[in-house]
Amino acid sequence: MDLSRTLTGFGAVLLAAALVSNPASAAPADPPPGAPSTRDFGNGPERNEIAATAPEASAESARSAPLGAPPDSRWTPKRQGYPRHTDLRVYPENPADKSIKLGLLPYHAIAPRLNALQAASDRVSAEVVGHSALGRDLYLVTVTAPESAAEAARQDRWRALIEDDPGAARRDRALRRGYKTPVWINANIHGDEWEGTDGAMRVIERLAAATDSATRRMLSRTRVYVTVTNNPDGRIAGTRANGAGFDINRDHATSSQPESRAVRDVVIATQPFVMLDEHGYTGTTLIEPATPPHGQNYEYDLYIRHALPNAEGMEAAIQRLGHPETARADIPFRDYEPGDWDDWPPVFTPMYAIYQGAVGHTVEIPLQVNHEAYETLPVEELRRRSSVNTDVAAATIEAALTYADANRAALLAGQIEQFRRGWAGAPSPRIPDGFVAGFGPEDRYSTVFPRAYVIPAGGAQRSPAAAARLVDHLVAHDVRVSRARRGFALGGRAYRAGSYIVDMHQPKRGLANVLLEAGRDISALVPQMYDISGWSHRLLWGASVDISATALPRVATTGVKVASPTGAVSAARGRDLALTMRDGADVRAVNALLDLGVELRRADADTVLVPAGARREAEVVADRYGVRFTAAARGSTGTPFTAPVIAAAVSADELFALREMGFEVRTVSTDLLNAGAELSDVDTLVVSSGLSYAQLNAAGKAEVDELLARGGVVTRGRTGAAFNAAAGLLPATAVTGRGDANGVVAVRNTGAVVGAGSPPHSFVYSPIWFTGTGFTVEQRYDAVPLIAGHWLPTAPGAGGPGQAADQAAVISGATARGGRAVVFGTEPLFRAHPKGLYAEFARALYWSAS
Ligand SMILES: [Zn+2]
Repeated sequence: MDLSRTLTGFGAVLLAAALVSNPASAAPADPPPGAPSTRDFGNGPERNEIAATAPEASAESARSAPLGAPPDSRWTPKRQGYPRHTDLRVYPENPADKSIKLGLLPYHAIAPRLNALQAASDRVSAEVVGHSALGRDLYLVTVTAPESAAEAARQDRWRALIEDDPGAARRDRALRRGYKTPVWINANIHGDEWEGTDGAMRVIERLAAATDSATRRMLSRTRVYVTVTNNPDGRIAGTRANGAGFDINRDHATSSQPESRAVRDVVIATQPFVMLDEHGYTGTTLIEPATPPHGQNYEYDLYIRHALPNAEGMEAAIQRLGHPETARADIPFRDYEPGDWDDWPPVFTPMYAIYQGAVGHTVEIPLQVNHEAYETLPVEELRRRSSVNTDVAAATIEAALTYADANRAALLAGQIEQFRRGWAGAPSPRIPDGFVAGFGPEDRYSTVFPRAYVIPAGGAQRSPAAAARLVDHLVAHDVRVSRARRGFALGGRAYRAGSYIVDMHQPKRGLANVLLEAGRDISALVPQMYDISGWSHRLLWGASVDISATALPRVATTGVKVASPTGAVSAARGRDLALTMRDGADVRAVNALLDLGVELRRADADTVLVPAGARREAEVVADRYGVRFTAAARGSTGTPFTAPVIAAAVSADELFALREMGFEVRTVSTDLLNAGAELSDVDTLVVSSGLSYAQLNAAGKAEVDELLARGGVVTRGRTGAAFNAAAGLLPATAVTGRGDANGVVAVRNTGAVVGAGSPPHSFVYSPIWFTGTGFTVEQRYDAVPLIAGHWLPTAPGAGGPGQAADQAAVISGATARGGRAVVFGTEPLFRAHPKGLYAEFARALYWSAS
């Protein structure tokens, strides 16, 4: 490898890794060569068997998440030339960093390395583009030939022109000649898949120091962007997740985590032609493009015509390394069966990036060094593997840079065409069989885009706070939203001034649609999927959103940069106030009032009464969280309540969502209770992960029993249903659907607690339903439950949506033990995504605690 001589520290680390390399000995169970690689099951042990203990430091990131609060500041590039030197803060040396054992770069060593590179080379710039859940810096490195401020400004104008006026960009000869090809490399999004970082650093160092004319030429017409580690918390701790317990590579449609928001901002600002997301470990190196089902909102022809040859170029590059383990790559599009490795949901970085104009690839480096291998293999063998993996990461990055440079004109034309089709509302063309080698009918996915979505203002809007949250989310993702200056009529409905319009004739229409459409039932199309198959911000985020298939509202509009404030106190002075808990933002407002010491009463499960004397406090939280207080009905009485003390054995995403709503949550588990954790001051116990009644010892059981006789229990999923049965709470029999089934379902709300004012949709993953009598059915699956997603029976006549039809999805009641319980078969907090379902869970908490 061509290591820079000025960078002896890093070079020495790599050299040491090379010197101790040693042929494989006791190899652990890698996937056998040729076997399809598998993604981690999306609703596995981490959500059902391990109770989250996310540190209080990450609670701050939950409280600053987008729910009911002003959007946090977005990263935008500086307006200056290159290089742009940043003196990165240096972290104290951390001998516990899990990278060290592998001979790789620990997180604390990255900033000194980048500071040295910036000092040594006028081609290298480093910036901080955000912070991890635990507050660590996220770095963006840009490698390019120096640019004056004027040249950089011209590149910015051209980037905007490609998106805003693709026809003009196509005709602009200066742009075609001078636009620097943007390529983005994202590394280490899974913290325990380390070597993307090290391979990327090796490439950066080569590019920084190379004197050959080919590299000089390439850097004169290319900007190489590298997010060096997208997950410092996980890199240090040796975990897939970030410090809040989230898989960032499932968060791109939700943006609940600062790491995914940072790369969202990077991809929008840089608009790459090509991007790689470097992962591991699949035994055989894996390089996308993926199998069907392909996302139906892609301009897939524009993608696959580059994705396949770029992947084959990367495969050739790893073959040239000469390692026995790198003799070939798996390219799922080419080598796997439909459903084995799909690109359907926009939750993965490369899939998300396609909608932003990039040819995106997941790359999985081959040799396992995490999990059991990390603990059991000899250090020399781990370092040998990490050295091979680093070679593979570097080789794929170099090959992608070569491809991007060689095909820069065609890649530019393709991105221009993607945005042109969006603006023109042009149908996506039918792709013929054989368009690229192996393209057949099984690869053909497309959609018909509606003309517009309308998010109504005024009385037609279910939740103004939810509508504002959705608008801010869309705008942050570079979806164009406008606001009607006057009222208008559309499709026989009248809309108030201030209603929002998403005109689907826009450059990133695919992204707009993949967030707003219902989705599709793809159960019949492929035998299985590895992660979520359904999502919908329109159906699950709590706002009313209408679809106009063919007509665009004829009304003057203004572009939206941020949603209009929605908070209000609409009642005469001296009147008591009422707030309806429809949305998570309402819940957060209620918890904020309780924190302020306001004496609240509950009129029913979803109506909270605020005394007239607390109007000032109500105004503050209305403004802060966008919620609306109205006048309480005269003579309203209610039951006083306080902030429930919650103990939770839940998954990390649920802990995060509970904190997002402002609940104070204490984490518990079987182990903690068996070790003496107390519940004497707890009002409600939440159980979904890592708490088994049967496995409690005598002391733990006594503690839980004491709570069950007086307090509440709210459960979710298999672990929760098992707790309900073992503890003898509600006399229901839980029936489990297929474990990997997931998607958006239609429900009927029948109860007064969870059902009160809930939307007619929910989300399931490993769906559960309940039979029996002696409890209240809060919510039922509809007669045809699945709206969008993948849900097959486990066996004929078992575990499928046909068996769940009309069955109880959520139940409540007084328990035989003396307390109250609510048992969920749905997933209202899944990965902090379905914001419109949060209030269902919160109402269950308040009700069960009372
Ligand atoms: Zn990964």
